[in-house]
Amino acid sequence: MSEQGFSTKAIHAGWDPDERTGAVNVPIYASSTFAQDGVGGMRDGFEYARTGNPTRRVLEANIAAIEAGRFGRGFASGMAATDALLRATLRPGDHLVIPNDAYGGTFRLIDKVFTEWGITYSVAPVVDVEAIRAAITPATKLVWVETPTNPLLNVGDIAAVAEVAHAAGAKLVVDNTFATPYLQQPLTLGADAVVHSTTKYLGGHSDVVGGAIVTNDEQLDSDIAFLQNGAGAVPGPFDAYLTMRGIKTLAVRMDRHCDNAEKLVEFFSAHPKIEKVLYPGLADHPGHAVAAKQMRRFGGMISVQLTGGREAALDFCARTKVFTLAESLGGIESLIEHPGAMTHASTAGSLLEVPDNLVRLSVGIEDADDLLEDVRQALA
Ligand SMILES: *Cc1c(COP(=O)(O)O)cnc(C)c1O
Repeated sequence: MSEQGFSTKAIHAGWDPDERTGAVNVPIYASSTFAQDGVGGMRDGFEYARTGNPTRRVLEANIAAIEAGRFGRGFASGMAATDALLRATLRPGDHLVIPNDAYGGTFRLIDKVFTEWGITYSVAPVVDVEAIRAAITPATKLVWVETPTNPLLNVGDIAAVAEVAHAAGAKLVVDNTFATPYLQQPLTLGADAVVHSTTKYLGGHSDVVGGAIVTNDEQLDSDIAFLQNGAGAVPGPFDAYLTMRGIKTLAVRMDRHCDNAEKLVEFFSAHPKIEKVLYPGLADHPGHAVAAKQMRRFGGMISVQLTGGREAALDFCARTKVFTLAESLGGIESLIEHPGAMTHASTAGSLLEVPDNLVRLSVGIEDADDLLEDVRQALA
């Protein structure tokens, strides 16, 4: 049988209709403990729900399948997944390389927490493979990549960075939250692990916080599983259920996010109050060729820089009506925010500081005409 398509896996992987009841959907197993048939006689491998829960296990198999990976692990948030992955791969004295516009929370965790435990890091532009090679030291164990980046929409060449990392004996991790596995599958491009904030596009409805790690590396997965149980930042069964419910429609949602984003990009590109549009789908975007090579389409995130500086950017954010002023991204509803004052405020004064005339839009799946009219009136 030929390999199944993306949506078939997204809808079916990990679960067949329940043998006993025929339930088409995976039940929410709200049970913290599991009866044993005699001491040590676990049924289906479950004993205690921090270690393993049947609903979570289905989510983990499903996410692994859609990321083209063998092993998936669910976490209570994207940051919990990031934390577990850093702890599974780094020891005191080790060094890692991170992009100059990494997710603010990832940077903060490394800069404020991991450095206290003897980890050092260097910042390199994700677009520049030679700069990443130059930032690697004999102590480098990990190269961290986000592509496209948040909020500057820079694009890194995953296959090229994987080669550079592996040549130095380091692992490559890709935060695939922005692209989602529908648009880009880092493991097939050479990454050793993928991390997700499932809070965003995978959940897709702004109603659940979660994270996940997928890898093909059995040792790495076993180290992650140890931390998942040992530190305990696990998602509850209802969270796992909601995330799976979102994943089933990921492909149709992503296509609509991309359609709407393309229309808005066209509008912004011709608008006099917009100084610059950052979107990898634009032919003159510096990362366009790489994005076209490794992504199916260019995603639902757009950033724009306004001609009127910080005031104009804050004003734009305040005046939209369909676009809600809020942090986060990847939901069905359109959101707008000012990264310098909101999501990326913690990067002020650091190497990861973002321009103050920058506005980030998470383009939802509403009717494109309503979104266009909304940004038109907000910029008028
Ligand atoms: C939101 C986000 C995270 C953190 O995930 P949480 O679920 O909020 O903990 C990490 N990386 C990226 C790219 C994100 O957008």
